[in-house]
Amino acid sequence: MKSPSLKKYIKFNHQPFDFIRKKQFLKIKETVSYAYNNSKFYRRLYDNAKLSPDKIKEFSDFEKLPLVRRKDLHKYNWDIPAVSKDKWIDISTTSGTTARPIYLPWTKKDFLRLAQITYILHGLAGIRKKDLVQITYPLGMGMWIAGLHNWLGLYKKESCSLRFGPGFTESQLHNMEKLRPDVLLGSPSFLFKLGAYAKDRKMQKKIKPRLICVSGENIVNHDFKFNDLGVKLEKVWEGSDIRPVYGASEGPICGVVCNKGQGYHIPAQFFYLEVLDIKTHNIVKPGNRGVLAITVFDAQAFPLIRYVLGDITSSFEGPCQCGWNSLRLGPILGRVDRLLKVKGVLINLEDIRSLVLKNKDVEIAYLEIIKDDNLIDQVVVYISFNNKFDNFNRKRVKDDIKFKIKSKFRINTKIFVKSNEKLLKKVWFTEKNERRRKPVYIFDDRGAGWQNK
Ligand SMILES: [Zn+2]
Repeated sequence: MKSPSLKKYIKFNHQPFDFIRKKQFLKIKETVSYAYNNSKFYRRLYDNAKLSPDKIKEFSDFEKLPLVRRKDLHKYNWDIPAVSKDKWIDISTTSGTTARPIYLPWTKKDFLRLAQITYILHGLAGIRKKDLVQITYPLGMGMWIAGLHNWLGLYKKESCSLRFGPGFTESQLHNMEKLRPDVLLGSPSFLFKLGAYAKDRKMQKKIKPRLICVSGENIVNHDFKFNDLGVKLEKVWEGSDIRPVYGASEGPICGVVCNKGQGYHIPAQFFYLEVLDIKTHNIVKPGNRGVLAITVFDAQAFPLIRYVLGDITSSFEGPCQCGWNSLRLGPILGRVDRLLKVKGVLINLEDIRSLVLKNKDVEIAYLEIIKDDNLIDQVVVYISFNNKFDNFNRKRVKDDIKFKIKSKFRINTKIFVKSNEKLLKKVWFTEKNERRRKPVYIFDDRGAGWQNK
């Protein structure tokens, strides 16, 4: 099957905004009809809400459709598929080994769609056909999709993949020394570790890739300038072009920041995006924070319509300097299930962690949310230092962090200092000592059914 060229895919997103919206609306209608006619879950959902696809005449009708949440995907996982099992060619999962996974089946047609999406993103990121691309996402582990999704895009582009996966730092670098990949794909934490290891051995200059695309953890602030993790990454991979990529297993949705650095570009022919007010679920104005809901077009096996991903972000108004006219997303500023309500005010736990990491003596930090004896939510901060401190200095840094959190968020915290090794083990490994897909920095131990994604 011949699919459009990269230019043609991108051209669609350079059309006037209203034209794109009109085309998306046709796709929305088609997607809702398809799900209603083929998925038990969506038929029941819309019948219960007394809504049917033929009632959708404009965007405001679509916005009346009930939102779908992660807990729905868990509860009705096997009611969602819109094609029978014999059409599936692969099943991926959403989560690490501790959380209950959501199973996402794919058909052959879905895989062709996945390949087209990453093909567009790789093109926007600047991957060229002749590039050697080292994939450090897991490809055969835990049934996760990121590695395979990237591989499919490279296969379509006919670029050469090096399917190394994560870990094995020493042999990974040896591989890079031999093959000299032009591009590295992976999680920022792992690629930082790899870069630091290379720098220590004075190999970094020799193996420096032209381009590094990272996803799984946020590396930018609200203005798309690098945050602490981004700066660390930039330092160890000096001279490489580092591009943040947004991605989630559901959809799987993904977007990349172009070379103008103005928001995540997400191809509008495959996804419809809504940024919703956390309380009212109305669409918020561009630039305002809200929670992301996605509708995926042309998903054959596992339709997703108005699915609340839980990521907190904002949308951009107006075209990007590169000509991209489709809705772009701001940085991911946290997750809605990582909000803490204190005296009626919602606090983003990621913001607390960012504040802790601003202290230059802190190497790693994670948060635990517990209920204290009075059943009040309590934030406990665990940190490690990048210096050997005596007790006096340890207390000074702890007090300073405590004071800053209190001043900014008006909450009291407990702060514990542990070794780097202990913290790394906690964030990367489960209690069963299984390695996570990506590090977890916020643990909710309030027993409210929250799951570390
Ligand atoms: Zn752009």
